[in-house]
Amino acid sequence: MSTELTPQVRRRRTFAIISHPDAGKTTLTEKLLLFSGAIQIAGSVKARKASRHATSDWMEIEKQRGISVASSVMQMEYRDCVINLLDTPGHQDFSEDTYRVLTAVDAALMVIDAANGVEPQTRRLLQVCRARNTPILTFVNKMDREVQEPLALMDEIERELGMEVVPFTWPVGMGKSFHGVMDLREERMRVFTPGEDRNHNDDEILDGLDNPAYAERFGMPYEQAQGEIELLTDAAPAFDSEAFLTGRQTPMFFGSAVNNFGVREVLDALVDLAPAPGARASLQREVAPDEKKFTGVVFKIQANMDPAHRDRIAFVRVASGHFERGMRLKVVRSGKELRPNTVVSFLSQRRELLDEAFAGDIIGIPNHGVLQLGDTLTEGESLQFTGLPFFAPEMFRTVEVADPLRSKQLRAGLTQLGEEGAIQVFRPVASSMLLLGAVGQLQFEVVAHRLEHEYGVKARIMPSRFQVARWVTCDEADGGDKELKRFIDGNSHRVAYDAVDAPTVLVEYAPELRAIEANWPKIKFHALREHA
Ligand code: GDP
Repeated sequence: MSTELTPQVRRRRTFAIISHPDAGKTTLTEKLLLFSGAIQIAGSVKARKASRHATSDWMEIEKQRGISVASSVMQMEYRDCVINLLDTPGHQDFSEDTYRVLTAVDAALMVIDAANGVEPQTRRLLQVCRARNTPILTFVNKMDREVQEPLALMDEIERELGMEVVPFTWPVGMGKSFHGVMDLREERMRVFTPGEDRNHNDDEILDGLDNPAYAERFGMPYEQAQGEIELLTDAAPAFDSEAFLTGRQTPMFFGSAVNNFGVREVLDALVDLAPAPGARASLQREVAPDEKKFTGVVFKIQANMDPAHRDRIAFVRVASGHFERGMRLKVVRSGKELRPNTVVSFLSQRRELLDEAFAGDIIGIPNHGVLQLGDTLTEGESLQFTGLPFFAPEMFRTVEVADPLRSKQLRAGLTQLGEEGAIQVFRPVASSMLLLGAVGQLQFEVVAHRLEHEYGVKARIMPSRFQVARWVTCDEADGGDKELKRFIDGNSHRVAYDAVDAPTVLVEYAPELRAIEANWPKIKFHALREHA
């Protein structure tokens, strides 16, 4: 079925770049923006990166909150497509946020440093993509350096990440004798010349994979590449669109982002191979992207620049319909109406892209707390999108106010920070002291700082004995709420409710958890909670 919105949906591509720090994400982002004509902002990506690297201090992260709102979504036009590139926070303590961003994309571009191969952060991010069957394109960067052999890299990616790798280009040499890449589909060679400000159109193109001139001009590196390509022709799997679209196969490209080499091929592949926005699951029904009515889901909340105002920007991934500034929207959870007249303008070279949005696009809605993570917005229909993950925290702290008269402010502050996803807040059944849960230490520091500066609360954040948390549920067939209540009553010293009142069991050691699981066979224990 198609509607008048179908053409708009088909020309959209929404993706994120996943990589380990320093693999070249920032550089690649900049080059991608160059191709779409958004040159004037390319420098701003670098500026932001510079401040991020200046110190890993959390105060810096704080300062950057404002800047990163603007550059956390970049929209560009390339060929006939509207491309949305979502930034994923680099610091690993913020990985929870990153995971949620990955629920809002339709494809991911994995950048691998050719010298380092598959690195830990890449592996973790990829697991999230694979759990959602997100299609992955692979860019092997820094071929202008002495790096690993391409066959070894290919093998490592296949083994470590469990995907079939299909080379679309193949490098001729590396480091000082990097001569370029063979385009295995177009059967031609793109010759490499170094230079930061080179334009892709300046590249010399030579026809054929085994042009007789190659051996003389490129020598040994060519002969090696030729041998490898022969091997690949026999051994590598053919590209299978279905396998790619379900994340089982990844097309691989080689290049050097800093030299703007091999980048355009990736952008073209994104347009040609990556999927347009598809249908999204909700509790009630599947929502098609080209349905007339607007629907969207909040996948990220970010505090705004000015701490005094407590503005927040809700990032909404449009799931269907046509968004226009000023239209009336319903927040399904609360039933409240929202009429966003100001939507945040993300970086774009064409202003008109910002006033309306279609499936796959991201809109930023400033608000004072009306919108929470996981919220569904519609034109009136009661729908709840599923799939926004919350991860069981791995670190816990108790929190108290120095001045008991400010405990109301503490609760208000923590509720808001919890809704933003900056921290998870738990209310223990048997104690009035709140518990904070995080996946990274830095989160606690940021929360303490923000409580003080935005809510005027000096909080004492202290160690907690808990180390492991699991959300608990009970299926109807196993006794449902009644059995769950029995569990909660029997474990009241270690049960707490989270921000949406989902019960959680907290323990000190993993073996303790196994004992509880054995004692309560009808209760289900979850390390991941999907917003419902
Ligand atoms: P990010 O942390 O993944 O965003 O990485 P950056 O884009 O900041 O790159 C990290 C470093 O690698 C920077 O010093 C870049 O200049 C450098 N770099 C990026 N791409 C290349 C490349 O193709 N070749 C070389 N030699 N260096 C690169």
